[in-house]
Amino acid sequence: MRSHAIKIVSGFMLASAVFIGCAESSNEHAEYQCPMKCEGVDKTYKTEGKCPVCKMNLKEVEQ
Ligand SMILES: [Zn+2]
Repeated sequence: MRSHAIKIVSGFMLASAVFIGCAESSNEHAEYQCPMKCEGVDKTYKTEGKCPVCKMNLKEVEQ
């Protein structure tokens, strides 16, 4: 009885850990870049916003 309950709980925790892990990884590694590449192809930003040089909206970089 008790071990059965532990299996259910650990299975649920594993499922939510996988779900949270996927949700986090998609955001954590998101990088943004100016579409005009004002500061070079290697310059990326961690947050969405506007290019400080040309003021265009930053575009998410495909990994
Ligand atoms: Zn720019």
